[in-house]
Amino acid sequence: MKISKFIVNPIEENTYILWNEKGGEAAIVDPGMMYANERKAVDEFVAKNELTVKMVLMTHLHFDHAASARYVADRYGVKVFANIGDAHLGEALSTQARMFGMDLEIKPLVIDALLNDNDTLKLADEKIDVLAVPGHSAGSVAFYLPASGVVLVGDTLFCQGIGRTDLPGGNYKKIVESIKEKLFALPGETVVLPGHGSSTTIDDEKSYNPYIR
Ligand SMILES: [Zn+2]
Repeated sequence: MKISKFIVNPIEENTYILWNEKGGEAAIVDPGMMYANERKAVDEFVAKNELTVKMVLMTHLHFDHAASARYVADRYGVKVFANIGDAHLGEALSTQARMFGMDLEIKPLVIDALLNDNDTLKLADEKIDVLAVPGHSAGSVAFYLPASGVVLVGDTLFCQGIGRTDLPGGNYKKIVESIKEKLFALPGETVVLPGHGSSTTIDDEKSYNPYIR
């Protein structure tokens, strides 16, 4: 699977496009675009590579990840996948933005298809395993692509950091548990793609992450 990254919005969120060159199938993960030019960049990428967008995958429903979830789903006629634990966050995207001092009108986001722990999705015949990783939010999930050796972790784990747990639904004990039991159980060479900042690997985080001991 090819993976392309777009850094969007003032919070510098990583929107990812998973795509395969042959069949042209794509999934858009955490479309956090807030401005027309950011949406245009993603749409132009999809058009240029002649991709068929199959789904919108949400690691969690914070506004900086979800601002364009409905836009993308409507544009390509696909569903927004997320965990039920974040349903209440989806309903309050504008409120979240205001908490960050941003006056943005984002319509409440209703989840179209539920993601549960251990679900398996398929994109262009490649398996995507859903791992429930509560802690940053109640409904946070990670997407693990075993064949590509990649895991998309949202705001659960960062390069030498972890997600904040002081927002509604956050839980410090749970995020540490999720990282140790779910993410650190993956092969050490797995590339970690977080919701903000640069990529890392499971082995590097086991060795150098100061928050997980
Ligand atoms: Zn978040």
